[in-house]
Amino acid sequence: MQETKTQEEEEAEIKKAALIGSSNGGGNDEEDEAAAARAKKILIRRPGMVRGRMSWLDRRNGRSWRHAVQTVFVLLNVYLCVQFYLWVRYYETGGASLKVTRPPGVEGWLPIAGLMNLKYTLMTLNIPPIHVAAMFLLVAFLLVSLLFKKSFCSWLCPVGSLSEALWRLGQKVLGRNVTLPRWLDIPLRALKYVLLAFFVWIVAISSADTIESFMTSSYGLIVDVKMLDFFRHISNIVLITLIVLVIGSVFIKNLWCRYLCPYGALVGLISLLSPFKIRRDAEACIDCTKCAKACPSQLPVDKKLQMRSAECTACLSCVAVCPAKDALQFSLPPDKKTAANGDDSGISRRWRKRALSGAVLTLLLVVVVGGIIGAAKITGHWQTPVPEAVYRDLIPNARELAHP
Ligand code: SF4
Ligand code: SF4
Repeated sequence: MQETKTQEEEEAEIKKAALIGSSNGGGNDEEDEAAAARAKKILIRRPGMVRGRMSWLDRRNGRSWRHAVQTVFVLLNVYLCVQFYLWVRYYETGGASLKVTRPPGVEGWLPIAGLMNLKYTLMTLNIPPIHVAAMFLLVAFLLVSLLFKKSFCSWLCPVGSLSEALWRLGQKVLGRNVTLPRWLDIPLRALKYVLLAFFVWIVAISSADTIESFMTSSYGLIVDVKMLDFFRHISNIVLITLIVLVIGSVFIKNLWCRYLCPYGALVGLISLLSPFKIRRDAEACIDCTKCAKACPSQLPVDKKLQMRSAECTACLSCVAVCPAKDALQFSLPPDKKTAANGDDSGISRRWRKRALSGAVLTLLLVVVVGGIIGAAKITGHWQTPVPEAVYRDLIPNARELAHP
């Protein structure tokens, strides 16, 4: 256990890991020399650890903040789904059950409607009235990805949180997760881009008129109810697929997110433009490989100076485990100031005001998502303005409605 190790024991372990990580078992003279040189690098220990735990305000503590944000978003989605279900039941029972208002936030589960509305807005410069919250939520999540890598997946998305809970369960019960070989991993990762291309193609070939007539059709008006029905009256094939995905996620880290989620593919592509990235300072780094081992996306964090990959979800797991002060950060590009290994203050200066802590990242995510939702509400573009009589007519017959 980390807590019971003395500092000397931990240091020896880190140096041993550095030697193993660097030499890679190759055994030739050049590699051995390089490994020895790396092991000689001075480890400037990161401060602030108390019995292996980091304070919530520690700059590297993304984990506690991320888990708190994930919990809030999972609970928020449960609340939205329950309220939406009660709202639908009110109309299905002819007004005999509890009356609640329709929660527009549930449209976060309608990304295709969001994408269609976004295209409509860009083409007509008019904000569409139907399922407009889907568009604002999509814009908020795209903006989050543009600024802070694919943080939507590891901080906000409830499916991402469920995936993480499942692989952590597998790791706890089985002792490890399964890593697919590269020849299988790479083509499988392409699947989510194929699915994304399909949805983008559907939106791309739809004109503004087509989008408007779909959204205002009977089916389009209650496409959210149709989505609920998809899960309430689930077909055997979909149920079996879901069970396979859930069981598979216990063994394979982020099975759905890594290989199949088109939303993840979209925000991943946008995240390539993010100015914030995981960045490694080669002078402070002691090549212990702990960051790469901790990365749930299996990225070579210990080899790169910055992590450009569309698979990096800004989960900050790598930052949390790094034992060297200022070696790894989620940051803007460093200051040009140089510092020799061992020059503690010089390396710190290089990253000052450029690295985001878990607390600040949490605040910024709240500001971006909350700001866009707030702006939509203030300008009257949040609720879908469909008269109650229309819902009273359509919802009880939703199952009979076919896609136009
Ligand atoms: S490199 Fe890996 S561990 Fe680090 S933030 Fe990205 S996904 Fe997380
Ligand atoms: S960045 Fe940190 S965790 Fe990664 S290899 Fe360097 S010292 Fe180790």
